[in-house]
Amino acid sequence: MREDLQKFIDTIPAVKDASRLKETFWINDRMISQAEERITMLHPDQIADARNRLERFAPYLEEVFPELRETKGIIESELRDIPGMKDFLNTAYGAEIEGRLMLKMDSHLPISGSVKARGGIYEVLKHGEDLALEAGLLKETDNYRMLAEPKFREFFGNYTVQVGSTGNLGMSIGIMSAKLGFHVIVHMSADAKQWKKDLLRGRGVEVIEYADDYCAAVEQGRKNSDADEMSYFVDDENSRNLFLGYSVAGERLKKQLDQQNIPVDSDHPLFVYIPCGIGGAPGGVTYGLKQIYGDHVHCFFTEPVHACCMLLGMATGLQDQVSVKDFGIDGRTDADGLAVGRPSAFVGKVVEPVLSGIATIEDKKLYDLMRGLLDREDIFIEPSACASFGALIHPAHLKRCLEKEGLSDKMKNATHIAWATGGNMVPEETRRAYLNMGLE
Ligand SMILES: *Cc1c(COP(=O)(O)O)cnc(C)c1O
Repeated sequence: MREDLQKFIDTIPAVKDASRLKETFWINDRMISQAEERITMLHPDQIADARNRLERFAPYLEEVFPELRETKGIIESELRDIPGMKDFLNTAYGAEIEGRLMLKMDSHLPISGSVKARGGIYEVLKHGEDLALEAGLLKETDNYRMLAEPKFREFFGNYTVQVGSTGNLGMSIGIMSAKLGFHVIVHMSADAKQWKKDLLRGRGVEVIEYADDYCAAVEQGRKNSDADEMSYFVDDENSRNLFLGYSVAGERLKKQLDQQNIPVDSDHPLFVYIPCGIGGAPGGVTYGLKQIYGDHVHCFFTEPVHACCMLLGMATGLQDQVSVKDFGIDGRTDADGLAVGRPSAFVGKVVEPVLSGIATIEDKKLYDLMRGLLDREDIFIEPSACASFGALIHPAHLKRCLEKEGLSDKMKNATHIAWATGGNMVPEETRRAYLNMGLE
């Protein structure tokens, strides 16, 4: 425990709870109205740029991934009503959810079955495009279907892509890079599941394993990559490109809500709950949604009790200058996608004025929520993704937050969206093991 941190434990109740490994809920008192217009580190035009790039690549993606034929190369997931899960949360957890509860099923995103299929794949495509444009092999006006030709695979084969990952980011970067023809190395931390390593190796990805945590894997990956001028490092801690890939989800979600005639305005608030690791995925989605809905959308992150790095970084204002270990927290969690001990500094600063709050959840509840969703809705998502229900099961805290934001009388008209961040690539055997966890 770092001594200079004691003052935060003494003065901020959520930090005190977090340091004692108790589930907690931090309400962001630095949030300000219409803050999205004042964020200077990024510009909304960059979201449009990312969307346009994904559209340029759509013909290529449709060509090389058969599962993308139906959507013509656009990687998107379903938004589904889950009334049975609402009932489960209300009865089993006393959640008192009013209005509509929906699931954003990034757990079932094509290609890599997690939210990382947004940011991770986007960043690899951007890098590939940059290289091909610079080499004069490609123009933005070309039909990118031609990237499937052998001459491009040969070209990309001269280059290496590297990334450090707890699993899902490695899956997205690995699968996409290998498909384009890159040599790709994924540095995996001890938390990463064996089946993810096996799957990647089966697709021609080089996987290097570490006995240490995520930060160590990232550090070594970065070093390896820096030593090779033909190598590109996907930097989960600082990458603007990853973040922008995630942010495109905002306008995509709006389209889906519009199609389902679900209003979002001052009388119909939208609540979005997203599991948080280093912060890129939930931060990018939040940034994208805030640009569209402004004060009508309310975003919450959830972290495991043992890996609550974003909560500690934001509540203390120290951002990446503090890690869970500095508070004597071990960082060990079954939620492998969220097993991160130090938050991104960049994301924390961007979302600080727009984020409503951060909840934490115990691992054993993740399994219970997983069984509840499977039982009531016949949908399987992985333990990390079940953290998306973590804020909803703390109704007293949520109510406090609603009062602060003046929303208490509007909750009957509210739409709640739990962002299911991963799951459909989990092998059958692992699913069965998960479903029996914590039942003894
Ligand atoms: C990576 C991941 C997250 C969180 O994303 P970060 O960018 O690390 O915050 C959430 N859920 C799952 C399943 C993930 O793989």
